[in-house]
Amino acid sequence: MSGTVRQPTVDELFEGVRICDRAFIGRAITLIESRNPAHQEKAQSLLHKLLPYSGEAQRVGISGVPGVGKSTFIENLGMWLVAEGHQVAVLAVDPSSGRTGGSILGDKTRMEQLSASEKAFIRPSPSSGVLGGVARATRETIVVLEAAGFDTVLVETVGTGQSETMVADMVDFFLVLMLPGAGDELQGIKKGILELADMVAINKADIFAEKLKQAVREYKSALHILTDASPSWHPPVVTCSGLKGEGVPELWGRIEKHRRIMSESGEREARRREQRLTWLDAQIRDRLLSDFYSNPAVKTSLSGLTNAVRAGEMTVSSAVARLLKDFQRD
Ligand code: GDP
Repeated sequence: MSGTVRQPTVDELFEGVRICDRAFIGRAITLIESRNPAHQEKAQSLLHKLLPYSGEAQRVGISGVPGVGKSTFIENLGMWLVAEGHQVAVLAVDPSSGRTGGSILGDKTRMEQLSASEKAFIRPSPSSGVLGGVARATRETIVVLEAAGFDTVLVETVGTGQSETMVADMVDFFLVLMLPGAGDELQGIKKGILELADMVAINKADIFAEKLKQAVREYKSALHILTDASPSWHPPVVTCSGLKGEGVPELWGRIEKHRRIMSESGEREARRREQRLTWLDAQIRDRLLSDFYSNPAVKTSLSGLTNAVRAGEMTVSSAVARLLKDFQRD
């Protein structure tokens, strides 16, 4: 039965998205997420039409390790934004969603109130498996949602290095949620993520009253020694409780302030321009790699050459040269 359902045309999808019809938005995103070449082609025509209507939203990345309180926070922030008259979209970038068979992030059951709101749209992470593909789909989905009229796009991600970098590369503001912890935890991954942060919010302030001040001090001094990404903004450290809503409006006020400052200095547009180039580069790499490994001639010679390299009978350089010759000839 499902095989006979007529698929909407690009023009129908365009119209549907522009009037913010949920069903059409959902279908547009499904097309974008599909790896089928025909779907991809259609998705690209649609995006081409939607692009002039996109770009107006405030795009905010929200990151933090599982359990830090991201979805509780987003539910609270989202409901507050909706009450303020905003239209809020929530997306997720979760590279593990392909493997676990379902996204944990952006899961509707985790944001019950917000997902029931007519002014909000929640989409779990695409489960295409490779992070590059998930990130591409998310970035293009932002175009759809902006063209549909959403003025605020929140992109949730888990606290694992690479996915955070990718999300930081698609948003105007990158918010990192943290819990108060021992000072010596401020190593490694946390330090890496602080470099991406436009603001650090210490969450669950309602239960960590004692340790809060110390945590604020620690994060402030950690941020102090990092070079600011912008000459006009030093990432603040704030406290909040996503559960109780404490500090959430104030936190958003800072994000708005950042938007004002960055727009006035021209850095907002500069950051977006820079991001487009980063994505251009990333997509060239992704495409070349996937074209390379799916190339028939490469596929034929790869296993023999791999064996020769493994056995030490051939140098890596000459194997690569042979493979590239095969690739270019095909
Ligand atoms: P996520 O994995 O980062 O999305 O975290 P969740 O939002 O699912 O929250 C994990 C747990 O922490 C849940 O049991 C929440 O109820 C709880 N939690 C989240 N935010 C707060 C908060 O601000 N205060 C307190 N006390 N608990 C919170």
